[in-house]
Amino acid sequence: ATPMSVTVGVGRAAEHGVLIRNAEAMQVAADVDTVVLDKTGTLTEGRPQLIEIQAYQGMGSNQLLALSASLEQGSEHPLAKAILDAASEQSIRLMPQQGFQALPGLGVSGIVNHSNLLLGNKKLMDEHNVDLAAVLTDAENISQQGATPIFVAQDNLVVGLMGISDPLRHDSISAIKRLSDMGLDVIMLTGDVEATAKAIANQAGINHVIAGVLPDGKAAKVAELQQQGKKVAMVGDGINDAPALAQAEVGIAMGSGSDVAIESAQLTLMRHSLHGVADALQLSKATLKNMK
Ligand code: ADP
Ligand code: MG
Repeated sequence: ATPMSVTVGVGRAAEHGVLIRNAEAMQVAADVDTVVLDKTGTLTEGRPQLIEIQAYQGMGSNQLLALSASLEQGSEHPLAKAILDAASEQSIRLMPQQGFQALPGLGVSGIVNHSNLLLGNKKLMDEHNVDLAAVLTDAENISQQGATPIFVAQDNLVVGLMGISDPLRHDSISAIKRLSDMGLDVIMLTGDVEATAKAIANQAGINHVIAGVLPDGKAAKVAELQQQGKKVAMVGDGINDAPALAQAEVGIAMGSGSDVAIESAQLTLMRHSLHGVADALQLSKATLKNMK
């Protein structure tokens, strides 16, 4: 039978906008010592904006945007939306694309205007032996601002670089401080590149960053922490976070996140704020302490 105080705790959590699937989840949450946070859509707003565009090899920036947006029509990634929004703001007409492929954790590829386009991160460009030497300093500058650098290659020649920024949610910093003050180890886990992830982590007050993780690698990273004896709460919003949410002792989904994430989690945050994580863990710890 569920102890009365746990039932009360589940109810109090709901008053804080935290839905707890069952009493057992609350008991497990009381033992958590490590909080792993996805970056995009969890720590950040999840509404990336194109803030910088640089064209090379004699290409104009509108032409670059036209090619990029035409290719990204096939993608549902938030980064694709940032590029499509920017093109639409400039009233740029999109071209048809062929052979579109989404490459999870890397980017997209396809044919636009009779040329082979690749759009994505350095890993993707390295896989196709695209020489980035001439643009790496520019990319580094973008990362240092906490924005994500996206490279564009046409027939394996780099023709563009875009900076896409997804700022921290306004109250993420204070929520991280609460979690740290509770003595919890706070870790950022993201598919984004290390330099960008570290810049955002710095702003958020997070010292521990695991970056460059492919979508299907997040659950393995959580398992590694568990093998070190950590009791992990994983917080995420995306389809690619679902296996990690299921792997963790406690999975916590953003209520604004994908259905798959919510189904994989024991806790759901109905307010779009990481203060819900601190509230839930604090309540669980207080509830279980009263029982001992
Ligand atoms: P996150 O864990 O931050 O949600 P993902 O695993 O979805 O990241 O993607 C990791 C990286 O792969 C992105 O930061 C980006 O560099 C690249 N990428 C993925 N999809 C796209 C896309 N549609 N357009 C451009 N780049 C992409
Ligand atoms: Mg996310």
